Amino acid sequence: MNCPFCDSEMVVTGTSCPVCSRNPRSPRRPCPKGCGWTPSNEVKCCRCGTGFKSELRWKIPLIIGIFILALILSVAIQILSQ
Ligand SMILES: [Zn+2]
Ligand SMILES: [Zn+2]
Repeated sequence: MNCPFCDSEMVVTGTSCPVCSRNPRSPRRPCPKGCGWTPSNEVKCCRCGTGFKSELRWKIPLIIGIFILALILSVAIQILSQ
């Protein structure tokens, strides 16, 4: 069995690779440049160093924006209904 992250042949079939000490069963994602897999909890590709685009980076401001919009709307509805 080869390590999916550093391609070294794993001598010990334990929970982590003896070379890169990553867990081969951990959730993974493909590199945007297509050079292989990197654990999902790492922000850069472990082979070429390309940073992954964080999906949360644009979702958090969007959620906050919707929340503020809903707050303004509820206040506006309360003022109008009085
Ligand atoms: Zn490895
Ligand atoms: Zn890469």
